[in-house]
Amino acid sequence: MEPIEILKVSNIPTFLVDDLNKSYLMHDHHHINDPDALKRVVALVGGGDAKVDRGLLSLLPNVKMISIFGVGYDGVDVQAAIEKGISVGHTPGVLNDDVADLAMGLLLSVARQIPRADQFVRAGDWVDGPFNLTKKLTGSSLGIVGLGRIGQAIAKRASAFDMKISYTARTQKSDLPYPYFPSVKALAAEVDFLLAITPGGDSTRGMINQEVFEALGPKGYFINVARGSVVDQPAMIKALQNKVIAGAGLDVYLDEPRIAPEIRHLPNVVLTPHIASGTFETRRAMADLALANLAAFIAGTKIPALVPECQAVLGS
Ligand code: NAP
Repeated sequence: MEPIEILKVSNIPTFLVDDLNKSYLMHDHHHINDPDALKRVVALVGGGDAKVDRGLLSLLPNVKMISIFGVGYDGVDVQAAIEKGISVGHTPGVLNDDVADLAMGLLLSVARQIPRADQFVRAGDWVDGPFNLTKKLTGSSLGIVGLGRIGQAIAKRASAFDMKISYTARTQKSDLPYPYFPSVKALAAEVDFLLAITPGGDSTRGMINQEVFEALGPKGYFINVARGSVVDQPAMIKALQNKVIAGAGLDVYLDEPRIAPEIRHLPNVVLTPHIASGTFETRRAMADLALANLAAFIAGTKIPALVPECQAVLGS
């Protein structure tokens, strides 16, 4: 039987590559030495950072499935995929806990300045006097931008810290007890901590902008575990440099992993390298779902986790 050929379009963990190699003939987008393979490839696999545009799809006449290892798929031109009858799968749900845990970690790190306190002890500065006082997290207000699967997991954890939770999203959730704000700016004006956890892409691009930072104010903190693109990054850097806001906790950036030097030099930020879902357990669960999506496509059975746009248009 002819092997089923698959193209890897971005970095994915070695254990996922190993599993894919057991069932499929794998090609690597960056090291393809057999141009004819592009005509034989039936599926693409890549991480949440994968860029799959119309141009790439036009080189791949037989691709009918894109399996994304990640819940966010903003690098995939889903409209172009749908037009070509291509299904797009992703890995929702299995990473909610880890992303919410890291969001809480950033909230605590920013409020209590844990990384700076660690440096303070290591540098031997304690002998010269105590560490500065910080911001209390328990009982503070938290505005969540995007109250979906992960946003709700964050709200659950923040509730245990007695945080006053409110949110904005495309739609108001009548089944949830938190106050809804129709705009990010209105939400920012009401809270101590503003936290972004929406998808990236055109519909959210730059939605956290200068006006939002001004509304959040000099005692307010911004946390981003969504995508770098949801923020007007130059406006954020200015807001942090000029103390328009007090600080930020960031897991995601524009043009990552190349981080703007201005961000790296800011004293009032806590930075993590896009690791919100990065535990052994969760990356394994994500790999299993990405493999299951692919296997279902090959078998012609129901794909477990199609992206909503494909569910709406193609059905499953
Ligand atoms: P989800 O369940 O689809 O929730 C997305 C939420 O964002 C929903 O509440 C949605 O509103 C809201 N939203 C979408 N577009 C919006 C817009 N234009 N304006 C305002 N709100 C908008 O997705 P999820 O599973 O929670 O994941 C959310 C995102 O987190 C992913 O797409 C990804 O970008 C990011 N993420 C980051 C990491 C990381 O490593 N840092 C890991 C995983 C995920 P409605 O409820 O009204 O539809």
